[in-house]
Amino acid sequence: MANDFFENLGKTLSETAKSMGEKTDEFIAVQKLRSQQSSLESEVKNSYKTIGEMVFQKFVNGEAYSEEIADVCREIMQLQSEIAECKERIAGKKGQTICPACGSNAPRGAEFCMKCGSPIPKPEETEDAHYEEAEEVAEETAEEAAETAETEAEATEEDTAKDTEQEVVEGEEVKETE
Ligand SMILES: [Zn+2]
Repeated sequence: MANDFFENLGKTLSETAKSMGEKTDEFIAVQKLRSQQSSLESEVKNSYKTIGEMVFQKFVNGEAYSEEIADVCREIMQLQSEIAECKERIAGKKGQTICPACGSNAPRGAEFCMKCGSPIPKPEETEDAHYEEAEEVAEETAEEAAETAETEAEATEEDTAKDTEQEVVEGEEVKETE
């Protein structure tokens, strides 16, 4: 009786171990499939991105698209100019300037880009130009900016909506004249 018990226990344990092993294998298989799925999904995303860039480039080149697509393209252009402004301002804060040809950073006052060799126009004298002074008041400015951003965000919400409407109207006019 006792022997049977231990024999059965042994069987149960080895079966449990076996099924745990199977579960582990299954778990690993699932993980593998998940990572395969996610890399396939990111390939799809990349392809979507490629299509998007192709369509956007055609829009930039003046090829007509449906108003739906044109809206998204205009949104991209608006965002790109905001990104460029951010990059310019970051470069300005670091005492640098942005090469208009290739977009890489160059030291302020450089006449030519070190990366692509394009001539760089003389930077306008802005508050950003005074790097050392700017650094001293950087903390204060950052605090002020944060506060301003908060209040501006609320205040400009309505304005932004109006601007967007206006852009669409302008875009339609452009399309008609083509
Ligand atoms: Zn350059």
